[in-house]
Amino acid sequence: MSVDTLEKLLIDELKDLYSAEHQITKALPKIAKAAANPELKSALESHLAETLGQVQRLDKIGEILGKSLKGKTCEGMKGVLTEGASVLEEVASGNIRDAGIISAAQRVEHYEMAGYGAVREYAGLLGMKQVAALLDETLHEEKAADQKLTKIAKSVNADAMSVAV
Ligand code: FE
Ligand code: ZN
Ligand code: FE
Repeated sequence: MSVDTLEKLLIDELKDLYSAEHQITKALPKIAKAAANPELKSALESHLAETLGQVQRLDKIGEILGKSLKGKTCEGMKGVLTEGASVLEEVASGNIRDAGIISAAQRVEHYEMAGYGAVREYAGLLGMKQVAALLDETLHEEKAADQKLTKIAKSVNADAMSVAV
């Protein structure tokens, strides 16, 4: 076992998040484009911009720690995004697809929240205050993005309900 300290586990999980964020920056434009509801579209677009900032934040953390965060693939996010892509293919465009997009996007946010919550705690325990603060910023952005989607879902789901069978 090469990951035998909390610090090594931190680096390992940061690499995983680095890969996850990169995958999200590639997937989000297509998902935003497929969204019909303007509020949903703009929420996805603004989270894309935020995600690019989160990648930069991870770059900064890598610099602080003197470690490269490249070279790992987050298989979990790969799966979550594959499912999201299938929504675009299988679900009819409009309100129903928008509801499916929100469901898929919230899976992404929850996966990220689990990851950032863990690494923020490790960094705090290890006395890496600056790193913990940077990770906390991203965790808050993910939580806010998730809450925004919950709010948008109220109207999107109501519209989806009114689609004739
Ligand atoms: Fe993120
Ligand atoms: Zn992962
Ligand atoms: Fe996110």
